[in-house]
Amino acid sequence: QLTKEAYRQVLLDSALREAQARQELTLVFQPQFDVVRSQLIGVEALLRWHHPQLGSVSPAQFIPHAERTGLIRSIGQWVLESSCRQGAQWQAEEHDFGTIAVNVSASQFHDESFVEQVQHVLSKTGLAPTKLELEITEGVLAQDTHGLIEKMQILRSIGVRFSIDEIGTGYSSLSFLKRMPLDRLKLDRSFVDEVTSDENNKIIASAVIALGAAMGLEVVAEGVETKAQETVIRAMGCNKMQGFLYGRPMSGEEVEALF
Ligand code: C2E
Ligand code: MG
Repeated sequence: QLTKEAYRQVLLDSALREAQARQELTLVFQPQFDVVRSQLIGVEALLRWHHPQLGSVSPAQFIPHAERTGLIRSIGQWVLESSCRQGAQWQAEEHDFGTIAVNVSASQFHDESFVEQVQHVLSKTGLAPTKLELEITEGVLAQDTHGLIEKMQILRSIGVRFSIDEIGTGYSSLSFLKRMPLDRLKLDRSFVDEVTSDENNKIIASAVIALGAAMGLEVVAEGVETKAQETVIRAMGCNKMQGFLYGRPMSGEEVEALF
């Protein structure tokens, strides 16, 4: 059992190492909507890996692996640059796509040169900094907080936006959240799931939405799959949604059909 798992890890490691060079990594984009104003407010870039033998490997599976092996550095750099290039193209064509959100893992954010990397990619691609949103998970906050707020503030000062992903699943202190230059909270889909039937999910979802309102932040509900979930979440005061009900993660061309 253990050997099999160890073997799989080694296999994943070497396969992932070659994935970039072989162009097996692609990005898809999931739209985010303001359902009251019927308006596209942004897209989230999500990584996809298709390996010829292993098939499709979920980012939930290979991102933690890439973090352990340090491969996240080059993969994250590629994701950031590709996303900014896509956004810059839409910007040049004057499409109103809102913001492009890029997921940034803890080890990327804690990299010494992270701020410079972002600034470099922005100037290289020409994407307006205000069109870029960096999504950090609540888990990033749990780790070494040293320098985190300072890094965020530098990027914020040039216009980059920040959102907290998977809010409600971690243990971040509210006073710490308050000190960060944030724009958005993303209500985790585990709470959206069964929000219509499960009392605990309902309580957490409405608490997160109230927290966002109190902090003057936008809240985007993630993983909305049914009209019933939308209705309950809207009644709680949240109008911004992302989920299969509105659109699956799709190619850049498919996003363009939404403009
Ligand atoms: P996440 O940032 O919370 O992304 C949302 C996930 O929910 C995506 O899974 C998306 O496909 C899925 N999703 C969206 N709407 C629905 C829905 O209505 N129902 C259900 N059941 N699922 C929905 P995905 O693409 O498999 O990504 C999983 C996680 O992998 C992401 O969670 C993110 O933490 C990480 N990830 C993805 N791309 C990147 C990346 O480029 N860099 C880093 N560091 N992490 C990434
Ligand atoms: Mg995300």
